[in-house]
Amino acid sequence: MASNGTALDFGHDLVSFMKHPGPVFDHYLPQTLDPKFLRRYKIDPPQRPKNKVSVGHVISRVALQHFIQMVVAIVFVWIVPRDLEREMEDVGTILIKLMIGAFMLDTYQYWMHRLFHRNKFLYRHFHSVHHELTVPYAFGALYNHPVEGLCMDTVGGGLPVLLLDMHPWTATLFTSFATIKTVHDHCGYVLPFDPLHLCFATAAYHDIHHWGKGIRYNFSQPFFTLWDELGGTIYPYSLDDMVSDEVKKEAEEKKHLDAKRKAE
Ligand SMILES: [Zn+2]
Ligand SMILES: [Zn+2]
Repeated sequence: MASNGTALDFGHDLVSFMKHPGPVFDHYLPQTLDPKFLRRYKIDPPQRPKNKVSVGHVISRVALQHFIQMVVAIVFVWIVPRDLEREMEDVGTILIKLMIGAFMLDTYQYWMHRLFHRNKFLYRHFHSVHHELTVPYAFGALYNHPVEGLCMDTVGGGLPVLLLDMHPWTATLFTSFATIKTVHDHCGYVLPFDPLHLCFATAAYHDIHHWGKGIRYNFSQPFFTLWDELGGTIYPYSLDDMVSDEVKKEAEEKKHLDAKRKAE
């Protein structure tokens, strides 16, 4: 469907919207939430193919994913009795558990993610769902097949909580932070002075994994790139290659104008 912003196209999409909400959301919602002043920080490489699924479909699958995680968490707390009233851990213990937990989660997710790519059955039936998003966006971060969601995200987040015997508040902090970082990995922007980008892998790093040759690289998630470095699966890229031709042209014109002004 065309989406060049003309009244005719809008009317055409509006009619489609009445039949099926997917196409309109797919075209107009991300564009509406795409402020112009942030465009130069947007990950928008020219050669990247378009998404294969609508935003409406993605939201419904992510809602299902959250529901499954909630049920698993309730059943887990019910089956494995935990002392929810126990005394809070001290700051030092919380920090150590968060750091070890991050390493455990990274290790688990790297090898599981790599396995879901290298094994053709696992990729075709499960992980290919996540890769229907060639242009990731924040609320598609947990767009997965339910089996993958259970194996990768639910078990990956639950194991450090269990093995490190985290206090419920420490566990809340850990799982919330891991979720925030995963959403951030799919946000589609590399903003300057982003505190998460100062310490951890950038959104561009994971974005590369969603399209082109990058699909065979950058399996590390959500925090550090250590396992990709050790496993020889890191994809070399430059942030300049990650912006659109339009942004590059604007930057080039600005550079030219500045040089001209200086010369005068
Ligand atoms: Zn993948
Ligand atoms: Zn992803």
